[in-house]
Amino acid sequence: MSLFPKLFPAMIDAVDAIIKQNSESVTELDQAIGDGDHVTNLQRGIKALKAKEGEISALDWADALQNIGMVSMSAIGGASGSLYGTLFIAMSKAAKGQELSVSTFAEAFAQGVEAVKRRGKADAGEKTMLDVYMPVADCLKQAEANSTALPEILKQVCATANQGMESTRDMVATKGRASFLGERTRGHIDAGAKTAQLMICAIVSVLPK
Ligand code: ADP
Ligand code: MG
Ligand code: MG
Repeated sequence: MSLFPKLFPAMIDAVDAIIKQNSESVTELDQAIGDGDHVTNLQRGIKALKAKEGEISALDWADALQNIGMVSMSAIGGASGSLYGTLFIAMSKAAKGQELSVSTFAEAFAQGVEAVKRRGKADAGEKTMLDVYMPVADCLKQAEANSTALPEILKQVCATANQGMESTRDMVATKGRASFLGERTRGHIDAGAKTAQLMICAIVSVLPK
């Protein structure tokens, strides 16, 4: 399962394409309850990562994640820049010296999500990207515990990301810019949750089934 850094160029292309396809609708979401820059923030990061895709794909998964984290941190900007930087750097720490497998990936992802929670002082139900990342982390752990086969895991991960994204619609934002609008945020999907779902499902789609 040394798929990940080798497939990084395909992953980043898939992420780039899905964000482009959905840029208008996601920008509308961030305009409704944020400041409208979420897509441009992410696209700055995607562009910087594409520029380094050859270098990153030649690394082992821990070093690749470290690089992705550093680039994300410096290129994305906004609240999501430091959160994505934190996610990948914490994942890298957990990956160090480990062979890539469903089990080590699930553990690294869970550690990454924990670090995002600490960094943003946020938890489930606050109408953020965590409402996608936390259930996906749980889904991976569960699948690992049940020895679920990889194709089924990938299906479950994307379905869980969709549910998590949809769940933010009826939540009231209590973190980030959207929290200033309180009750008025109800009825809108969180932009960061939407892009998290889009990116997760895009990455899943390029993994061999
Ligand atoms: P900014 O809000 O600084 O303009 P972005 O628009 O790029 O940054 O990202 C906004 C997204 O970041 C939100 O939609 C939400 O999903 C996520 N977010 C904001 N604050 C937090 C937080 N404290 N914890 C987790 N996610 C957060
Ligand atoms: Mg914004
Ligand atoms: Mg902003």
